[in-house]
Amino acid sequence: MKNKVIIGISSNIEIISDTHNLGKERSILNQDYVKAVIHSGGVPLILPIIEHQELIEAQVSSIDALVISGGYDVHPFLYNEEPHILLENVYPERDHYEKSLIETAYRLKKPILGICRGMQLLNVVFGGSLYQDVSLIDGDLIQHRQKSRSHSLSHCVYIVPDTRLFSIFKQEKIQTNSYHHQAVKRLAPEFKISAKAKDGVIEGIEKEGDHFILGVQWHPEGFCLQNTYMLQLFRELVHAAHAAKGTG
Ligand code: MN
Repeated sequence: MKNKVIIGISSNIEIISDTHNLGKERSILNQDYVKAVIHSGGVPLILPIIEHQELIEAQVSSIDALVISGGYDVHPFLYNEEPHILLENVYPERDHYEKSLIETAYRLKKPILGICRGMQLLNVVFGGSLYQDVSLIDGDLIQHRQKSRSHSLSHCVYIVPDTRLFSIFKQEKIQTNSYHHQAVKRLAPEFKISAKAKDGVIEGIEKEGDHFILGVQWHPEGFCLQNTYMLQLFRELVHAAHAAKGTG
């Protein structure tokens, strides 16, 4: 396995409501993420939510790149706001875990890909803020929470030239799925916008400089196998993981 890179994927916790396991917490992740990493040539490793920094360091040391997956809303305390009435489910333990995970991966120079909530959390951890619901944005909004399955395309995304995202897709306009009700408000310092929807909602961000830290608001893993061009995002992450590890 010398030439393989390990891609850590953060997971969620579900509280079980069936009789036999009532109230139990279970670590979960949609298998789409696992398949996307495998089809991109990486070795997927699901990372459970843990608390202690020492263990988080060990988790990050054992991977070559990190995917922050989708999930609940980020608690607005992380960007110094009170909860708006339109805020949905939050799970602060996951916020704190992933904040540490991102900070540790950043310090250890591991590439990071944030997906949906993962992109929003990247923005928050590096000093930005969020709209707690897209309806709080002025103007005529398009639908950002599609009512169809994740492999069906929902809205267009316009990619900004001269960004890492553009170098991945080599197109100014792509079609994506969309499953979010929050959005980036104040962009984190040292980040740039790499994609927007037609209504101006931010759909992609990336950190300036050589370190691969990139977020997308859609779910590329949801339709990687139907639209192979979307796999390119994961292939670039695997490529960056090789480069960081020194096996590229
Ligand atoms: Mn969207």
